[in-house]
Amino acid sequence: MTDLNHIARRKSVAVAVGPVTIGGEAPIAVQSMTNTDTADAVGTAAQVEALARAGSELVRITVNTPQAAAAVAEIRKRLDDLGCRVPLIGDFHYNGHRLLSEYPDCAEALAKYRINPGNVGFGRKRDSQFATMIEVAKERDKPVRIGVNWGSLDQALLTRMMDQNAKRADPLDAREVTREALVVSALESAAVAEELGLARDHIVLSCKVSGVQDLVAVYSALAERTDHALHLGLTEAGMGSKGIVASTAGMAILLQQGIGDTIRVSLTPAPGGDRTREVVVAQEMLQTMGLRSFTPLVTACPGCGRTTSTFFQELANTIQSHLRENMPKWRERYVGVEEMSVAVMGCVVNGPGESKHANIGISLPGTGEAPAAPVFVDGKKTVTLRGENIAKEFQQIVDDYVEKTYARRESTDL
Ligand code: SF4
Repeated sequence: MTDLNHIARRKSVAVAVGPVTIGGEAPIAVQSMTNTDTADAVGTAAQVEALARAGSELVRITVNTPQAAAAVAEIRKRLDDLGCRVPLIGDFHYNGHRLLSEYPDCAEALAKYRINPGNVGFGRKRDSQFATMIEVAKERDKPVRIGVNWGSLDQALLTRMMDQNAKRADPLDAREVTREALVVSALESAAVAEELGLARDHIVLSCKVSGVQDLVAVYSALAERTDHALHLGLTEAGMGSKGIVASTAGMAILLQQGIGDTIRVSLTPAPGGDRTREVVVAQEMLQTMGLRSFTPLVTACPGCGRTTSTFFQELANTIQSHLRENMPKWRERYVGVEEMSVAVMGCVVNGPGESKHANIGISLPGTGEAPAAPVFVDGKKTVTLRGENIAKEFQQIVDDYVEKTYARRESTDL
């Protein structure tokens, strides 16, 4: 059968990060970052575990102080004790060369080092400090991400490029020069890392910016000029819907062109908000684009004047939570359950039609309709639910469908 949704991925060099592969033929990996104080090993391990449980396949932690570096091995041990094998990535700025050299347990416990070429040091020190980090990576056989950021772009490089631009007969716009400087910073730093002996399959690149058009321009240029695996993300995306929309708008354009081997959605959580939201958004971005499946998603209509109660919204929400909560268990037991689709619709106008497109769908009664909710399974009407227990009965139908439809994995006798 022709895969109508097939998107040709850009060819990139695969990079092994512990048990996870970024690039090559590997599926696009979802990653996230903690916002705890890394020196707090207990709190950081708990947040890493929560992010991994939500589906983050790699988790980055900042390693900014000697105390943080000293805590990394304990964080790793706590995760291992919990059976959580998610690779930890260390985020280094300014003092990474010292921390990686002086805390060998930290260097060993991390599965990858993120190096920001704009924050490695200045002048001659910059080169030697960068070289020190690459040497540690080589000795310990660890990959690195050369992660350039708009907010901390190598100023010496930018000044050099601005000066060169000023001498041109037709100088480019300053923003264009800055975009080019981001790309050059990543490519030149990768070339230096390779000259220092770090293998090409140990290097991931990123060039993060906070504007959608800048993101598209910069990553399109990177993708044209290198086959290094690319970490994709909009930096400082922001809070709430703005962060989600901006990240999705930018990344979707690039993902649709096959650009991006791993993604992070950099959302600012509300005070006390749930850090795992960024993982769910990243998964939903990939899944709604048809690039990967993680958890069955609920299709629901927006509701309108035909729906006078909030019952159908509550049902859509309850079912989505039920699917998400059960997914860790189902994933271990059943093959392909993440591809199941469920529809919860508010009335007869689009309800039966949309429900028939899903594996399981329910069309709730709108205003003036008989109080009955037909359920469709694989396109056929199977039962009509009525009364107080519609939500519970529908949930049971979903559970029974999973049990009957998806093959059990051989390795589990659960
Ligand atoms: S399916 Fe019915 S309730 Fe839902 S938006 Fe359409 S008309 Fe309104």
